[in-house]
Amino acid sequence: MSDSADNQAFRVRFAPSPTGYLHLGGARTALFNLLLARKRGGTFVLRIEDTDRSRHVEEAIGKICEDLRWLGMTWDEGPEVGGDFGPYRQSERAGLYDAAVRKLLDEGNAYHAFETPEELEAMREQARAAKRSLRYARPDPLPTEADAEKARAEGRPVVVRFMMPDKDMVVPDRLLGDVRIGKDELEDFIILKSDGGPTFHLANVVDDAAMRISLVLRGQEHLMNTPKHLALQEALGYPHPEYAHLPLIFNMQGKKLSKRDGDVDVHAFRAAGYLPEVMINFIALLGWSPGKDREKMTLDEMIDLFDMEGIGRSNAKFDRDKLGAFNTQAAAEAGRDRLLAGMRDYLSCNETPVAQADDDTLTALLKACEGFRTFHDVDEKCRFLFVADTGIEYDPQSVQKVLAKGSGAGYAMLIDLRPALAALEDFSAEPIERLLKTTAEAKGVGLGKVAQPLRVALTGSSISPSIFDTIALLGKDRTLARIDHCLASRE
Ligand code: GLU
Repeated sequence: MSDSADNQAFRVRFAPSPTGYLHLGGARTALFNLLLARKRGGTFVLRIEDTDRSRHVEEAIGKICEDLRWLGMTWDEGPEVGGDFGPYRQSERAGLYDAAVRKLLDEGNAYHAFETPEELEAMREQARAAKRSLRYARPDPLPTEADAEKARAEGRPVVVRFMMPDKDMVVPDRLLGDVRIGKDELEDFIILKSDGGPTFHLANVVDDAAMRISLVLRGQEHLMNTPKHLALQEALGYPHPEYAHLPLIFNMQGKKLSKRDGDVDVHAFRAAGYLPEVMINFIALLGWSPGKDREKMTLDEMIDLFDMEGIGRSNAKFDRDKLGAFNTQAAAEAGRDRLLAGMRDYLSCNETPVAQADDDTLTALLKACEGFRTFHDVDEKCRFLFVADTGIEYDPQSVQKVLAKGSGAGYAMLIDLRPALAALEDFSAEPIERLLKTTAEAKGVGLGKVAQPLRVALTGSSISPSIFDTIALLGKDRTLARIDHCLASRE
């Protein structure tokens, strides 16, 4: 491909900083970039912005890749897949950043600075007292390379600052229109840290140019960074990519979504037993709508329907209840194999005795829990099956309410039911249902008075699949053994 053709190609990227699990906001940025790339026949790049090396970076990169894949997203260039513009981790691209800093210094667009944190604070304090701008005051004359050498020898933190042009900046945003940022809000920012590593701003700009990114679609929290990036591009002689900043994601109370609102990491939703196709659908709706009240979509349908015009200008709302409703409906519509695979995936992320179940048992459990919201609910409701018959822990409140109350009416019910259950030949859900209903009728009580004592005796709690399924799943021997154990542990 010729250079100019390559330049014109539509290239977008998702550029996470590997600080932990992928969160919903990041997943949304990745998804919108992916959708645009697929829609326009462009390239979707995954770039890891690991200029802040902390101990857990390796692990975090793996997690981000895994979460993206779980959601069904794939990238055309990046870690694990390679590409023509690699390496795709900033920690492996130091030479490029050094060259850019050198160029900026040589051409008088950057300078060394070496204030200690205390001195910087004192400068800010003075500015505050004089009611001057708190921006870093550019020294005059500028320090020379020799000054920087001397400062380094004295053990001072030597950084390189970019000379921000003395003018208001306009960010031409594809979603927000022209956003003007006054020069008072912009200062000479650091591009090279005292440890010799590039800052986010420098590496981000150098790599967008080197990787020929044509559109930067990222969260609105980066809007104030963009004038800096535009100015750096000008000084380095790079073309400007287009920019578009996505609306923030808010909680239902209208505050910025944060960890305080509960799980916001994609992995947490996986571990809680949501289906990935539901998650990605839901994430797509955080700030985008295909119009005509359309909500349910597969990834392929989203690619077909996606365009920038459908992205909202106002903040997106994260509605957890709606997500739950989406998942409930999708699970109810999913076939056996899909549910089984989803349940296995859920189990692979959790420590639960239910993981021991074979496929037939799991299928029976999923069926018994029909109408469930998440795989976690299935897990919780069915754990009773995987504990020893004599190892059941009885929930004291349920015991009191269902068995002991009314001079032990619940226990009496168990004593009455035991021989009838023992005599039942076909121990499947239907005959069990008939038996329990007839018993309730004969005694002139509601079905609950029969079902609840059994449920507590068999599972230790008052939550389980339908009582008929619960009994059928346990089978006759275990049902009788549990009734006996419950009666024997009566106080
Ligand atoms: N590394 C930045 C972040 O995680 C991404 C910035 C960008 O997309 O330009 O927020």
